[in-house]
Amino acid sequence: MCGIIGAISENGGVAQDIYPGLWSLQHRGKESAGIITYDGQKYHKKKDMGTVEVVFGNDALLGLAGGAGIGHVRYSTTGPNSAENIQPVEGSFRSIPFWIGHNGNFTNTEELRAECESKGYYFKTTTDTEVLAALIFLHGLGGQKSFEYALKLSLKKIEGTYSIVVLYKNTVYGVVDPTANRPLVYGEGRGLRVLASESAACDVLGIKYLRDVGPCELIILQTTPTYLQRDHIGDHADDSSLKQKFCIFEYVYFLRPDSKFDGRRAQSTREEMGKRLWKESPVSADIVVPIPDSGNFAASGLATEAGLPFVMAFFRSHYVGRTFIEPIQERREKGLRIKLNIIPELVAGKRVVIVDDSIVRSTVIKKVIAMLREAGAKEIHVRISSPSYTHPCHYGIDTYRVKNELIAKRHGGNSEAIREEIGADSLHHLSLEGLKESVWVSRDKTVSRFGKEQMCDACFSGTYHIPIKERK
Ligand code: SF4
Repeated sequence: MCGIIGAISENGGVAQDIYPGLWSLQHRGKESAGIITYDGQKYHKKKDMGTVEVVFGNDALLGLAGGAGIGHVRYSTTGPNSAENIQPVEGSFRSIPFWIGHNGNFTNTEELRAECESKGYYFKTTTDTEVLAALIFLHGLGGQKSFEYALKLSLKKIEGTYSIVVLYKNTVYGVVDPTANRPLVYGEGRGLRVLASESAACDVLGIKYLRDVGPCELIILQTTPTYLQRDHIGDHADDSSLKQKFCIFEYVYFLRPDSKFDGRRAQSTREEMGKRLWKESPVSADIVVPIPDSGNFAASGLATEAGLPFVMAFFRSHYVGRTFIEPIQERREKGLRIKLNIIPELVAGKRVVIVDDSIVRSTVIKKVIAMLREAGAKEIHVRISSPSYTHPCHYGIDTYRVKNELIAKRHGGNSEAIREEIGADSLHHLSLEGLKESVWVSRDKTVSRFGKEQMCDACFSGTYHIPIKERK
């Protein structure tokens, strides 16, 4: 997770655009937020703990002058949720500062950290992102390399997943790892060029989303002269698309439904998941109820396919964010209690099909089933628009920390045992093949440019495309 944005504005005042762009990415992380700009002479920064609204309230944007900048919203996956780890992370190249915003996880952090420390680099944060800053710093010592060359050399040493934006004086770099595991898109309009985690940021900014940034691709944006340049990191630019392993869980949960990636909207893939879910597991029922918001579109696709009424029986307060991305279980549960309420009259005496995107820790589904029972639902049939989440993600979601909390892992993927624990009358997870088909050809019949084998599904299959080491 994490949301990143980098932008260049011909008209200056880029922070005024990064701010709403960052707000549109808030669902990707809400622990902290930061914006750094460069005005041609010096950097301006504002970063703090909290949401975009909290950090940039009042007059915070006024001090962020300049036409080049990057921003970040954080969901911690490496290093604790603490002030020193707020991104963008600062680095130094031949005594000139630069800043990095990162979405993803480096998988060889410990070795690289030890290597950099042995060469005299002193780490100021516990993030994996600072490893890239350290490598760039070390490349700058005594050599004649340009910043760009040092950046490319450093990226070649890094394993794992990343979409990254870097601000170095008046230049913004955007780069994606060889598997393009995490999204990064490019858009432009009204003198603004933007790299962002999701296309929704382009919509919010009133500019045109033009395309996704591909595996190993390096996009370079500058204010003076204004230009966009493309390059590649790595040695396999020609066949790089073959190595693509885009995170399939982005389509299941992370992407905003109105965001587009690989030519299709997340909403359309989710409706297709719902359709296939019903085909795989029909049941006699009266109504289809989504768990808002993450289950909305799969439930709507399922209800259409089933010919059953789609009933919004749960009210979701939009003043509470996604509970899944709260870093602490206790806060997740409290957040859920504030977030969800039921309208009992809509479910009393009914056979209910309840739809959600996934069951990770089971916090949400257990609470929802308890509320339905209390409201008098006659039967509760749980339908999940992704397979059993049996393996921790090491590429950008914090489930490796809670691997023993994954309900599917605890039960060895045994669906009947999971059903019994959550207290449902029936339970079905969409098959992995069904999920891949849904992402490959979405509800609106848009076909993916990539094959089904070019999607990461490690959390469902246990097949990790980038070797991982057991982390502490
Ligand atoms: S393991 Fe799952 S959540 Fe992690 S990158 Fe792969 S598909 Fe996405």
